[in-house]
Amino acid sequence: MRITHTLLLLTAAAAGQLGAAEGYTDTPLVPGQKWHVHDSTRPQPVVVTPGTGSTAEQPGKPPSDAIVLFDGKDASQWKTAWKVEDGAMVAGGGDNFTKEEDFGDIQLHLEWAEPTPAKGNGQGRGNSGVFFFGRYELQVLDCYQNQTYPDGQTSSIYGSWPPLVNACRPPGEWQTYDIAFTAPKFKGEELVTPAFITVFHNGVLTQNHTQYNGDTNHKAAAAYHAHAPTGPLKLQDHGNPVRYRNIWVRKLVDRGEN
Ligand code: MG
Repeated sequence: MRITHTLLLLTAAAAGQLGAAEGYTDTPLVPGQKWHVHDSTRPQPVVVTPGTGSTAEQPGKPPSDAIVLFDGKDASQWKTAWKVEDGAMVAGGGDNFTKEEDFGDIQLHLEWAEPTPAKGNGQGRGNSGVFFFGRYELQVLDCYQNQTYPDGQTSSIYGSWPPLVNACRPPGEWQTYDIAFTAPKFKGEELVTPAFITVFHNGVLTQNHTQYNGDTNHKAAAAYHAHAPTGPLKLQDHGNPVRYRNIWVRKLVDRGEN
């Protein structure tokens, strides 16, 4: 009897079904979807083991036209003095904005590692985030054998869209995000075109030209608030010492009418 129970638990764990997910069903609906914000009953993304080619033991080299935001030593591009240790910038001391505030349409590469041993559960395990314009979050979380509401998982558009799959590596291992972000356009207070994001997590596509519904919210639907055509990037301090390295960005050419 005991062996059968253990086997069942192992089978459930292998399938990524680690018990009921945390979350909510009393929140507003995500605009245009049948799911509530942070819906605990939304299907869990399938777990995919990433390949080995996307993260070297050593960080790679940025392309020649990239703006290097952190090279493992120099954190002077950032407003908040996060601790720099062993080639990584460690979340702590408050949210961290780039000094530069002229980012619109961009390609962004960054690497991060979750605290090990893992501490906490659900949203409390290795939570951080990348915020474009300081508003639009791409979630950073330790979702390796850690379940939470799908629209709050690693690589989710927090509160709107789960990742296509869960491509997390175990805590302590370096992980990559390769991102194409298209800034929203406003005319006065009016939204003309929304923001879009494409994300490769550890070389696995997790967001494919996904539309943002607006500023990221907790337990409330995202909504747009007009802002300038460019803005800063932000890394979130959610109280967990998530480490970052090899952060670079490329500003994308505005093709205009060409
Ligand atoms: Mg977060």
